[in-house]
Amino acid sequence: MLCIYCRSDTTESTGAEHVIPAALACKDTLEPGYVCDKCNDYFAKMDYNFMLNRYIALFVGAQQIPNRNGRIRTQIGHKLNFPEFGSFLFQLCPDQKESTDRKWVYGAKQDENFDELLFARGVHKLAFNTFAYGRGGREAMHGRFDNLRRYIRRPDRGEIWPYAVGGAPYDGTYYASLHHDSAFTEVSVSLHVLCLNFFVFLSGSCYDLAAKATGQEVYVVSRKGQWQGSSILGLTR
Ligand SMILES: [Zn+2]
Repeated sequence: MLCIYCRSDTTESTGAEHVIPAALACKDTLEPGYVCDKCNDYFAKMDYNFMLNRYIALFVGAQQIPNRNGRIRTQIGHKLNFPEFGSFLFQLCPDQKESTDRKWVYGAKQDENFDELLFARGVHKLAFNTFAYGRGGREAMHGRFDNLRRYIRRPDRGEIWPYAVGGAPYDGTYYASLHHDSAFTEVSVSLHVLCLNFFVFLSGSCYDLAAKATGQEVYVVSRKGQWQGSSILGLTR
């Protein structure tokens, strides 16, 4: 069997790639052999960076999402310390004024080590993981995903593929849905992770994401790395 990311032989590989990072309390894994140990190691940095996204990090703190060992975190990264559970209010919309007698209203500051380009690739990696998990390694090896493999593991300098992101209610589960056109050339994944819903094209070819991701208040992260669209999450600030 070959690694779905780098196509190297995985016969000797022993690790199992988590579909969604284990640090977000998701236990589902791809079967051993889908992802080589080298890629699995490489993705550890990508997954950690995913956690540093301010909305993911704050949500992990606010909802007390346990780490891979089942422990509740009090901090993520260098800047995000979580006060006692129940003593603060987590707001997705910093401008929204609400009267509250709670001590803290958490703003959403971004950890200085957060890497936007790595995050964008991490989103695509999660989407491709869910595709492989749902459709199997054989379909994931199809040549239509070769450019995606390259982008996730060896992007050009500054390269960023667009994706859309919007807020979503959290019910304790992770889920994804796959969509494709009749020729199966444009494959997209709608992926719900904690409080965010991502909309990702695995071909990277869709330039009109906002129109495709209908029914959502979305941002589109463009090819130039600029946030466009709705500002409901305050992500542009
Ligand atoms: Zn690999």
